[in-house]
Amino acid sequence: MSKFSRGRVLAGASALAVAFAFAPPAANAQLQPAAHAHVHGIASLEVGIDATSITLTMSSPLDNLIGFEHPPHTDAERKAAEAAVATLRQGAKVFAIDPSAGCTLKAVELSSAALGVGHPDPSEAQAGHADIDGTYEFACAASQKAKFVDVGLFQFAHMQKVAAQVAGPQGQFQRELTPGARRLVLSH
Ligand SMILES: [Zn+2]
Repeated sequence: MSKFSRGRVLAGASALAVAFAFAPPAANAQLQPAAHAHVHGIASLEVGIDATSITLTMSSPLDNLIGFEHPPHTDAERKAAEAAVATLRQGAKVFAIDPSAGCTLKAVELSSAALGVGHPDPSEAQAGHADIDGTYEFACAASQKAKFVDVGLFQFAHMQKVAAQVAGPQGQFQRELTPGARRLVLSH
């Protein structure tokens, strides 16, 4: 499975979580088993490592970043949204990969229906909750030398946890990051 099709699976899972956000609790529990559910405070992050690149795909409830999940109405909301998007576009402020891997940021793609950013699923903004997704592609001289990524998502006030899944030369494993533990270690 390519990194891009993984991204679509992720977005689909978020949309599903949004669609069932008001389902009865029992059904809700059954439908949100994964870390990708829309839960305020939690963002998901997938890290794919191959020989010459590292790709990070994050998905977060918009509330984690700006404190609301609707298109901005007021000047204050517009400023908050613009500032968050500007920060996310600066990849080095969001993900700092171990310098020994020699990585250079090649592309950032953001997507959020509520903020009118990128090319999101048009149905997403109508469900009452909203996400922002981002894909960061780094080209690396020696990606296998990357021992960690420092994750900058906790600069956003409502971000409490990042549920990370890593797929690379050492196989697949999961990690949880918190405001007190922002370094994603890329080994078991
Ligand atoms: Zn929400």
